[in-house]
Amino acid sequence: MTDVVIIGGGLGGLFTGALLARNGMKVTVLEKNVIPGGGLQTFQRDGVQFDTGMHVMGGWTPGGSIDRIARYLGIRDRLNIVEINSDCMDTVTSLADGCTYSIPSGRDRFIERLAGYFPEERENLERYVDAIERIADSFDLFNLRPYSHGSFDMIPEACIPADELISQYIENPRLRSLLAYNNGLYGGEAGRTPAYVHALISVLYLKGASRFVGNSRQLADLLIEVIRSADGRVLCGHEVSGINVDADRNISSIVCLNGEEFVAERYVWAAHPSELLRVMPAGVFTKAYTRRVSSVKPTCSAFSLFIELKPETFRYIDHTCYIHDDMVDAWNLAAVDENGVPCGFMYMTPPVENQGEYARKILATALMDYTQVERWDDTVTGRRPDDYYAWKNKVADGIIAKISRIHPELRHCIKSVYTASPLTIRDYYHSPRGSVYGFSKDSNNLMESQLPIVTKVRNLYLTGQCINLHGMCGVPLTALTTAEAILYPTPILPCL
Ligand SMILES: Cc1cc2nc3c(=O)[nH]c(=O)nc-3n(C[C@H](O)[C@H](O)[C@H](O)COP(=O)(O)OP(=O)(O)OC[C@H]3O[C@@H](n4cnc5c(N)ncnc54)[C@H](O)[C@@H]3O)c2cc1C
Repeated sequence: MTDVVIIGGGLGGLFTGALLARNGMKVTVLEKNVIPGGGLQTFQRDGVQFDTGMHVMGGWTPGGSIDRIARYLGIRDRLNIVEINSDCMDTVTSLADGCTYSIPSGRDRFIERLAGYFPEERENLERYVDAIERIADSFDLFNLRPYSHGSFDMIPEACIPADELISQYIENPRLRSLLAYNNGLYGGEAGRTPAYVHALISVLYLKGASRFVGNSRQLADLLIEVIRSADGRVLCGHEVSGINVDADRNISSIVCLNGEEFVAERYVWAAHPSELLRVMPAGVFTKAYTRRVSSVKPTCSAFSLFIELKPETFRYIDHTCYIHDDMVDAWNLAAVDENGVPCGFMYMTPPVENQGEYARKILATALMDYTQVERWDDTVTGRRPDDYYAWKNKVADGIIAKISRIHPELRHCIKSVYTASPLTIRDYYHSPRGSVYGFSKDSNNLMESQLPIVTKVRNLYLTGQCINLHGMCGVPLTALTTAEAILYPTPILPCL
């Protein structure tokens, strides 16, 4: 017997499971992949570990929201996480004119540095930072305050398109683009992505960004430990393929592809909602709900490059680097140039244990539209045609060529290169069209791009990146809301 069955052992499923376990609940997590963690998964080649979906994170600085949740779970001190260089958290390079901007964390330092590049915009920058801080402060959950109103009750400024918010305060077109440089962290679109997505993520990084030392899997492992400490379990290789629902609209059991069946009082769906529609018997959800969930536009996908370096050849970089062909279209980062190579992307040298002067690996991630791989839509991992691999090699080579314009020594330092495309993401996470960040938020229709955590099925709750905000800054907070709904009337927030 188990109290709660959670479907999906990624960031959302494991955080929800750990929060429930911390409150004495016996949890079973069912994960389709052989390795748990979803976006926290790490793979290994030649003894070098690469993280698949968690490279730079907000919320881990002391007193930050995720730091506090991790402390509540008793795992914070065992995590090996470093804060990225606060004096230069990111660099942004425009290849067209070779200009590089360095972005520090900390409100005052941020304004001072950017005002150094754009002196005539100093006051505008101050007003812009005030605005994003005001928006971020208006979200109770984001600040771990017990919340008094619904998620759709936002201040008007939070709901306009993010590019419009920036333009309201900033005159210079290049500075407007520069302020959207980290758009790759949320896949924003001009005229669509709400200002609050830009504001929450920007404010979080203003407070300091962090990354894992070693690998991101360590967080998954510790969350699993918390689940196990309350007699729970995480079962990998358990893809959920069916749900039995009784006449009272209660789930009576969950069925896996391997034939195993699981029964609990309550169930949490922590995989993509479209996957829920796929396995839920027809007629359980209303046609309107089904239509709504299937019609939400996904955020774009991504192409990742994992480079293993020859020992002691390429210097370690203690921050994240962003490259743009030019700094004109920060809102269309998924664009490709005439050779099909991404026009903008980020790269970094993730730190390893006892990091020294030289890096062991480079990770580069470019947002990419799924249309780039649509011609191989009906292929599966391990059985894709040769022209797919030729295309991946061409894109990888183009990305390496662009990084080499800043680091001419790069090609000589490479030992091996591995790649992941939108198809990899689609098949690994079961995320429609390889969407990286789940549902795309639309400022023109905010209700459409968020789902309530409760459903018409009485004992089913939702969690994960599509429900609210994605990434490390969003998914654990939604997990908190889902866990509180199950534990009701025992709130967690006042205990953090
Ligand atoms: C390339 C890439 C880079 C990223 N970089 C960052 C970053 O630097 N910082 C950041 O904060 N965020 C980043 N993200 C986003 C972050 O990884 C996600 O927001 C987060 O992992 C989503 O958590 P989740 O639990 O909703 O989904 P997931 O982590 O995807 O978990 C869902 C789990 O459900 C499982 N599943 C699916 N279907 C079934 C089924 N039928 N039965 C059982 N299990 C099933 C999947 O295998 C998966 O493990 C990145 C994402 C990608 C793809």
